[in-house]
Amino acid sequence: MAALVLEYYVLLRSVLHAKPHLRACLTRCRHCRIFFLTHPRNAGRHNLRCPFGCREAHRKQASAQRSAAYYREPKGKGKKRDFNQRRPRQYCVPKPPSDRPRARRPRRRRTQWNLLMVEHVRMVVSLIEGRRISRGQVLRMLAKNLRQHTMCRRRKIDQAVAWLNEQPP
Ligand SMILES: [Zn+2]
Repeated sequence: MAALVLEYYVLLRSVLHAKPHLRACLTRCRHCRIFFLTHPRNAGRHNLRCPFGCREAHRKQASAQRSAAYYREPKGKGKKRDFNQRRPRQYCVPKPPSDRPRARRPRRRRTQWNLLMVEHVRMVVSLIEGRRISRGQVLRMLAKNLRQHTMCRRRKIDQAVAWLNEQPP
C-alpha cells in the first residue's frame, strides 16, 4: 500500500511539474490527509474528502445516520410499521435440493472498476489534457493499461522461468 501511495505521489509531482497551473487544484483529504487533485470549482477548499474511499465512507455513514434519525421520529415509526405489515408473511415450502448439478456457465472475467475512481481519473485526465474526456475513453484506457500490465508481468515470469531453465539452482 505504501509503495502504491509513493508511486501515486511521484506521478502527482510530475503532473504538477508539467502543469503548474493545476497546483491550485491540489488539496488534501480532511480525513486521511492524502493529497489529490480536485475539480477547479473546488480549488482552494481544504475540507474535502478524497475519492479513494473517504468520500464514499462518509456518504454511507451520513445516509445511515439520516435513516436512523428518520425512523426514530413518530412519522418514520408509522412508515416502518406499515412497511413491515405490507410485507407478505407466507410460509414457503422449501424446495427439495435438485440432484442435478447446476451447469456452470463459463463466465468471462470482466474487471469491475470503482465508478467513483473512474470519475476521479476522468476528471484528472481532463484537467491534464485540457479537454473533456468521456467515461468510455477512461474505461478503454484503463482496460488497455491493465492488459499491458498483465502482459508485462507475464513476460517477467516467462523470463524468470527461462532464466531458471538455463541456470537451474
Ligand atoms: Zn481520504
